[in-house]
Amino acid sequence: MKTLSGIAISRGFVSGPVIIVSDEVGSVQLERSVAPEKVLEEIARFHSARRATRRQLEDLIEDLRLRVDASSLDIFKNHLVMVDDPTLIREVESYISNEFLSAETSLKRVCAKFRDAFEKMDDPYLRERIRDIEDVERRLMKQLVGDETPPVVFEKPSIIIADELTPSDTVSIPREMILGFAMNKGSSTSHVSLLARSLDIPAVVGLGDIVSQVKPGDIVLLDGTHGCVTVNPDEETIEGFERLSRRERELKEILADDESRTGSMKDGTIIHISANVQPGVPLECLKTFGAHGIGLYRSEFLWLSREDEPSEELQFEYYSAAAKAVAAMGNGARVTFRVLDLGGDKLQRGAVMNEANPFLGNRSIRYLLSHRDVFKRQLRAILRASAFGPSAIMYPMVSTLQELREANFELRAIKSELRTEGISFDENIPVGVMIEVPAAAICARQFAREADFLSIGTNDLIQYTMAVDRGNASVAGLYQPTHPAVISLMQQTISAANEEGISVCVCGETASDPILGVLWVGMGVNELSMSASFIPILKKTLRELSLSDARELAAAVNNMGGEKTAAAIYSYCRDYILKKVPQLEEIQSFFTSV
Ligand code: PEP
Ligand code: MG
Repeated sequence: MKTLSGIAISRGFVSGPVIIVSDEVGSVQLERSVAPEKVLEEIARFHSARRATRRQLEDLIEDLRLRVDASSLDIFKNHLVMVDDPTLIREVESYISNEFLSAETSLKRVCAKFRDAFEKMDDPYLRERIRDIEDVERRLMKQLVGDETPPVVFEKPSIIIADELTPSDTVSIPREMILGFAMNKGSSTSHVSLLARSLDIPAVVGLGDIVSQVKPGDIVLLDGTHGCVTVNPDEETIEGFERLSRRERELKEILADDESRTGSMKDGTIIHISANVQPGVPLECLKTFGAHGIGLYRSEFLWLSREDEPSEELQFEYYSAAAKAVAAMGNGARVTFRVLDLGGDKLQRGAVMNEANPFLGNRSIRYLLSHRDVFKRQLRAILRASAFGPSAIMYPMVSTLQELREANFELRAIKSELRTEGISFDENIPVGVMIEVPAAAICARQFAREADFLSIGTNDLIQYTMAVDRGNASVAGLYQPTHPAVISLMQQTISAANEEGISVCVCGETASDPILGVLWVGMGVNELSMSASFIPILKKTLRELSLSDARELAAAVNNMGGEKTAAAIYSYCRDYILKKVPQLEEIQSFFTSV
């Protein structure tokens, strides 16, 4: 049994068999031989695989240095030693030159011999070293076989283990085959994390090196609530796991009970709490979690799972389904379609990254304005869908007024095209701007004068304000939602919207943390949109507070003197809210915030 700790991404307790994605050694031709004249070349190939593995391990150690204790780090330092182990090298070279076997075959044979020797040892600690041998063997083998890994076949629901999945990989796995995710890398706002949350799939990321700690057929317990994964658990651990799982279900019921009451806050103030979804997510999740419509429809996921552009018809099919779903909910619920947010780490399947700095490159609205045909086809599909239910459009990653105006120019053109064709759509469809770039936040007043609403994408706003990659676990400590600079940009945006009389939403994942959600409400936000599974706890928190409480909190943060750091602001907010909503403590221990 072995337990690894990582970052809790998406709550829930699941157990099951594992499947390792994109890290299988795959089609190793076991008995491949080499011609005598190729022996030296084969030995050189083995050494080049060793060098690459050494570099990979050095990077891993560097990455783990600040996050794991010294003894965990030692495991990998030992692996480094094994890569340079003279016996390993001598034996592999000997198989290649004396028996004319390929480097892969020779490595397999030598590692099997090592494993046999360790298996016979009495000392359980030394027997455990077999895992280390397998670990190093797997790394070396991967270097040797290159990209010949065959595609993974999903036969039964499993816990998906991977180094790190891209959004495209994530969406290509059939949902019914996923029990949970456990990844070596990642952070709370990397896209696989967002996806796991919105699909309500328990997930733990940033585990360091889970991939080499499991083998196909192993059973693992995945605790997405507290961020740990246990491989091959004993009886006692299974019992404890089940106890936690039961308590979580009880708390879920308490939250669900709360659902039957009405009004967002104690004093009757209405704050719309809506869901972030993408095409493919079952729209019943809106009802299950009590969402007031869809505050962010991530349309780009239609692109991510394919190599070509989805047709206008296909887009229309998805968009109109969402419009119909919110129409059925009534009560003013609407769906806010974000136009294609492609680029950065969100690439189409098969696309190559050809920008040196894709997060600062031709992405999102910039991409659409330089691919107008794609933009126009999407606008047509959205406008046609708007005839079926209350809809809105919003533009991502806007940084200049010119972009907003050009996008609106295309929107007007498509509207008149549809009119001419006699196709119905919502003539007054609201148009909003996402505030994700500091430049847009600083100039929010200009945008607020020309848009129908603003929506703050805190995932990107924090990333660009702090100059910290939202998906890079090694700088995750700098990803600070309550950094005074972030709060100041948010306050500028919110005040601009309030003063211009338009609504303002927070649709980044910070909205799902009840502590931050309350702060944003106190600062003047009218809507919060998040992965649906976080909605019940936020609603519960808001119901225990009145708007004046939230405003008092925001004012206190604004007036904080002394150490006004991200950590100090967050803990002030937490203490304030916990005093008024004491139950939140236990609920939070189960329903971890971002
Ligand atoms: C954001 O940046 O906060 C956002 C909602 O957009 P995404 O996470 O899809 O980039
Ligand atoms: Mg964004």
